[in-house]
Amino acid sequence: MLASKCTQTCRISFQILAKRQQSALASFAVNSIESMREESIFTEDHVALRQSLRKIIDNEINPYVEEWERKKMFPAHQVMKVLGSNGFLGVNKPVEYGGLGLDFSYSVAVAEELGNINCGGVPMAIGVQTDMATPALARFGSDELKRQFLVPTIAGDYVSCLGVSEPGAGSDVANIKTTAVKDGDDYVINGAKMWTTSGMQADWMCLLANTGGEGGIHFNKSLLCLPLDTKGVNRAKNIEKIGMHSSDTAQIFFDDVRIPQKYLIGEEGQGFTYQMLQFQEERLFAIAGMIVPLEKCIAYTIDYCRDRKIFGKPILDNQVVHFRMAELATEVELLRSLLYRSVAIYMRGNDVTKLASMGKLKAGRLAREVTDACLQYWGGMGYTDEVPISRYFRDSRYMAGNDVTKLASMGKLKSGRLVRELSDACLQYLGGMGFTPNLVSRAFLDGRLLSIGGGADEVMLSIICKYMGTLPKQK
Ligand SMILES: Cc1cc2nc3c(=O)[nH]c(=O)nc-3n(C[C@H](O)[C@H](O)[C@H](O)COP(=O)(O)OP(=O)(O)OC[C@H]3O[C@@H](n4cnc5c(N)ncnc54)[C@H](O)[C@@H]3O)c2cc1C
Repeated sequence: MLASKCTQTCRISFQILAKRQQSALASFAVNSIESMREESIFTEDHVALRQSLRKIIDNEINPYVEEWERKKMFPAHQVMKVLGSNGFLGVNKPVEYGGLGLDFSYSVAVAEELGNINCGGVPMAIGVQTDMATPALARFGSDELKRQFLVPTIAGDYVSCLGVSEPGAGSDVANIKTTAVKDGDDYVINGAKMWTTSGMQADWMCLLANTGGEGGIHFNKSLLCLPLDTKGVNRAKNIEKIGMHSSDTAQIFFDDVRIPQKYLIGEEGQGFTYQMLQFQEERLFAIAGMIVPLEKCIAYTIDYCRDRKIFGKPILDNQVVHFRMAELATEVELLRSLLYRSVAIYMRGNDVTKLASMGKLKAGRLAREVTDACLQYWGGMGYTDEVPISRYFRDSRYMAGNDVTKLASMGKLKSGRLVRELSDACLQYLGGMGFTPNLVSRAFLDGRLLSIGGGADEVMLSIICKYMGTLPKQK
């Protein structure tokens, strides 16, 4: 009886929420495109590109996201083909290989627009295809290699993935164990890759492997194009995750996998350097992709809190709540300003490793802060994943606060203090409607990855400290 009443109540709430979320999304969408016209790094052409991507997202992607989240995989070939046919997989890639040949600011506009997809998994897989698996190939690959792998990837006929992380090496990229050893005209590959986004579906992998040679751990690695239907490649499993559900994440083993030596990207021994070179763009792309979801989180939450009444008045009418929303919106604006400044400096040919690392750090922290704070005001609409680790993660928001408080107390990161404040606020606001899957909770879970994937926060801090001259030299 109780259960059926609850189910009925939840269903009604969900319908209302879905409607309200759509209206918040609609009002946000207009603001976002309009405000973009005011930005110094964007022109009318950027806006036009973004508007045509918005149509694809609205018609070909968002209507299916709920289904893909449930199935724990989106149809990568289908989605990439739609995007590829419309030029969105090669925005800043050379025209002769099917790209649009535009500058990096257009990629930033596209990355921002991808934030309108109603989950994090699909934009992440698109980002892997456009800005992680292919930049080194486009820059350093031979013409033959580009025609074989880059052209169909930009067209959306191939799905690509990046094989850097391994079971024993994530942050410490130089410590990877996979080997590619020369034998006749071939390389023979042995080892394993972990956490490979789109790895279950991809046609080929941009693989980082040890190819040996002199010069130490930074000069004994190479990037290779590895077709994943090659004998000896075993896609062992799609790893269960607490977020990014639409995106598959593979663990892959290589057992005497033989590929021709001509599949080497650029020079042998330069793989680590190539990988590091593309980090600036990769990180700016990641920051850009985070802005819209955070703004949407805030917009939906304001909308919900305006409607929901507690103790005779809307939640939003409590000063602590509307002030909090204003603080969070301010933080997101600051992140946007840092992004645009970094892009503007980068576009003039300067190195922005420090700024991009600061932005990535801030984006990761802010993703946790904003989603955490917003989730709080929805009461208990909750989560349906019942695995212990995801429950631990949700419960451990307080632990995250403690962790960051240490940094904040060192006076380094204002965001750490925000997390601590939020933990306090959470105690005040606990109770309410409970948790269910919704756009805010998904953004909360998906956004958590930003502080770990693609260079953990600590890696960002190390880079910033290096630039500030405070990083102790390794003995
Ligand atoms: C959903 C998902 C998708 C991914 N997609 C890809 C992909 O497509 N291709 C790919 O190659 N990889 C991918 N990754 C891997 C990702 O890049 C790694 O998870 C990341 O680099 C961290 O590595 P790790 O998990 O091995 O953590 P570890 O390296 O074991 O680090 C654990 C923790 O240690 C801390 N830490 C790290 N460095 C320091 C330091 N210097 N000082 C203090 N503390 C530190 C950080 O808190 C870090 O989170 C993906 C991961 C996930 C979860």
